[in-house]
Amino acid sequence: MNLLEYEAKHILKEFSIPVPEGVLIRGQQTPDVTLPAVVKSQVPIGGRGKAGGVALVSTQKELEVAIERISQLSIKGFIPKTLLVEEALAISRELYLALMIDRTSNQTLLVAHAEGGVDIESLDESGFFKRPLNPRALDAVAEELADYLELPNKAFVLADLVENLFKCFTKSDALLLEINPLVLTQQGKLVAGDGKMTLDASARFRHPEWSELETKEQSANFVTLDPHGTVATIANGAGLAMATVDAITSRGLTPANFLDIGGNATTEGIRESFNQLVEFNNLTNIVINIFGGIVRCDTVAAAIITARAELPSLPPLQIRLSGTNADEARKLLENEGLTLHDSLESCLEEIAS
Ligand code: GDP
Ligand code: MN
Repeated sequence: MNLLEYEAKHILKEFSIPVPEGVLIRGQQTPDVTLPAVVKSQVPIGGRGKAGGVALVSTQKELEVAIERISQLSIKGFIPKTLLVEEALAISRELYLALMIDRTSNQTLLVAHAEGGVDIESLDESGFFKRPLNPRALDAVAEELADYLELPNKAFVLADLVENLFKCFTKSDALLLEINPLVLTQQGKLVAGDGKMTLDASARFRHPEWSELETKEQSANFVTLDPHGTVATIANGAGLAMATVDAITSRGLTPANFLDIGGNATTEGIRESFNQLVEFNNLTNIVINIFGGIVRCDTVAAAIITARAELPSLPPLQIRLSGTNADEARKLLENEGLTLHDSLESCLEEIAS
């Protein structure tokens, strides 16, 4: 699960990691903030600065113009639902700092670079500072880090920062925590200018607070293909899911997603799938293409009917079920005014008509 910047910064703040003062806005309200300020698009993707999604403003008028512009700006297909408006930092230096899991050594790694703020792929690989983090020896790493960053007078501040980041990382069940840039302000403070966090979805059971996140958890088998796509897909089995996406594309339609629900063609699974699909704003149809081998078609049909009843705003469903108990499934669906298509072709025919 990738968090939005404001969600990541909220967690950082809870662990006493300095972040700028800011307010979150929805729609085009003008917030009451001290100027100069930065207006930042809250989209689940990096490179916002380059795409025009981060604006530094120094007057009320500029603030209004930036909010109007950025709230409508699409970045790699994403329109922000929220904007973060923060006090601007007076930047002296931009650094890069991250914690991540090293899957080779099975350790938490601290990674730093003296030149942050830029796309890290563009940085020279050998220039990175990398150390495994041992919770009993954090101070030593912080000392080395202060040397590496040429900030000897910040050794104590960095020691606190590394300790808090390590706590934040482990307590949050994070897989990645990246601060780029970590800003050294002209006042000599170290502040997280940006925040990116990836949480381990399999640790959800110990984090009831995650239900508050705007970030929707997407299962490993869910891929957004086009946020503006018009046809959403639900299929079982990766092969069938790919074939479904391909068939939609070759009809000249735009598939919004790939979704393989595997053996989870239950009411719960279908409901979860529908919940992920309502994120798409341009859907005209949802194609459900399920082969009833182990799961029975009538069970799947009943699951679709129950899940659909809970979400009245769903677009029309084009359902193709084939296999065990398909006839019973047809009867169930027909009672609800739904058609069971015999083939994917027939589903697409219906969409095109
Ligand atoms: P990203 O492009 O999505 O990674 O967005 P960032 O939040 O990292 O912002 C991109 C760049 O905008 C930063 O590297 C800074 O150079 C600049 N920036 C962001 N916040 C501030 C700020 O408060 N003051 C100033 N002067 N520049 C900022
Ligand atoms: Mn950044």
